[in-house]
Amino acid sequence: MTQTNSHDVLIIGAGHAGAQAAIALRQRKYDGTVALVGDEPDYPYERPPLSKDYLSGDKSFDRMLIRPPAFWEERGITVLRGLHATYVDPVTKTVTFGDGATIGYGTLIWATGGSPRRLSCTGHSLRGVHAVRNRADVDRMIAELPGVSRVVVVGGGYIGLEAAAILRTLGKHVTVVEALDRVLARVAGEHLSRFMEAEHRAHGVDIRLGAKVACVEERDGAASGVRLVGGETLACEMVIVGIGIDPAVEPLLAAGADGGNGVLVDAVCRTSLPDVFAIGDCAAHANAFARGAVIRLESVQNASDQAGVVARTITGDPQPYHAVPWFWSNQYDVKLQTVGLSAGHDAVIVRGDPATRSFSLIYSQDGRIVALDCVNATRDYVQGRALIGAALPADPTDLASPAIPLKEVAAAWSAQVSSV
Ligand code: FAD
Repeated sequence: MTQTNSHDVLIIGAGHAGAQAAIALRQRKYDGTVALVGDEPDYPYERPPLSKDYLSGDKSFDRMLIRPPAFWEERGITVLRGLHATYVDPVTKTVTFGDGATIGYGTLIWATGGSPRRLSCTGHSLRGVHAVRNRADVDRMIAELPGVSRVVVVGGGYIGLEAAAILRTLGKHVTVVEALDRVLARVAGEHLSRFMEAEHRAHGVDIRLGAKVACVEERDGAASGVRLVGGETLACEMVIVGIGIDPAVEPLLAAGADGGNGVLVDAVCRTSLPDVFAIGDCAAHANAFARGAVIRLESVQNASDQAGVVARTITGDPQPYHAVPWFWSNQYDVKLQTVGLSAGHDAVIVRGDPATRSFSLIYSQDGRIVALDCVNATRDYVQGRALIGAALPADPTDLASPAIPLKEVAAAWSAQVSSV
């Protein structure tokens, strides 16, 4: 085993969180050595277009790069590509890679995201069965698409539905197989699920709810269909599996870091190992907007904000992570924007008429607003952010009326509160 070199800050994982951490360190005038090491062959790029305009062919890969390749060298950030970290030694402060090389660190930032969950049934690894996590996944799909007329998407979460929308627009026959009784069940309330199901059906997508996959059937070494529990087979040439990710944290847990579903971090993203931070999809943290529950957030916002938190701590100006979560999804001409976290809500106000395809859902829990889902309603999304955490008024009629801008509702409430 050879130690090739050592860096003041070593960042493992060159995705959104890792790249933003390196950028934020330099923005904060950090002048130590910084290395950004990832296992993909490309420079850091944005993942959201993978299931949207990169899959459709409307966005080139160059336009997804987080920064142009020259940027990293200009900022004195060493970018190492194609290196997979397998082992962390917190005593010698080294990271070992698949090829046997080791790199030392003063501070380690773990930003490895997650690996897509695979189906566990027969046929899960056949040709034609795809995940949607990185550029290589989507390039393989794009290469196969000319020979594909029928696609089965397993999983009715955001990524599965976005892929379904693009493939439908490309003229493919698309079936979505969702094990639960509604799409987006883990991330949104029922109104939004039903709206999105109706949108997809109106575009010709066959949505199967409460449907479980028994196996992927094979012909000539490739997927030829998805058999459901119950016996029906959905014939297809392509299967897309969008059933979530497992955080890529094994080396850190093996090194003794606390965690399980992600590495546990404190308010400034420190793990339980000395001088080791974790950020982005792989970091499990107590989130104020989830009523203190320990969660992982899988969003660009969380990756960028946690990167900023770590950069502040390393440069001697620590501030706890306290960012309102937000997220977006584009499907057909539906632009969904979410602010806050709706999980655990006990009431919903529907603002506007879903039939107009522009409306918002305002979620509350124990009388406080916890989240908004805004469908083709960017103004509500922008203005509604100020309402997160606010107590619902006794008469929430104004909230339900799209004619009254949310910023006026918020202003009226704060006037009431300050006059008490
Ligand atoms: P990643 O961006 O996944 O980066 C982690 C990197 O680390 C990867 O390159 C990985 O290969 C590498 N890595 C893993 N293990 C190792 C190792 N041991 N050694 C070296 N390198 C390693 N979010 C939104 O907010 N809005 C959206 O619309 C949206 N759409 C999405 C669509 C798709 C198809 C996907 C996949 C994600 C989408 N997301 C979206 C989520 C968002 O992209 C992620 O939350 C974000 O990328 C998380 O950043 P990260 O740095 O934690 O992980």
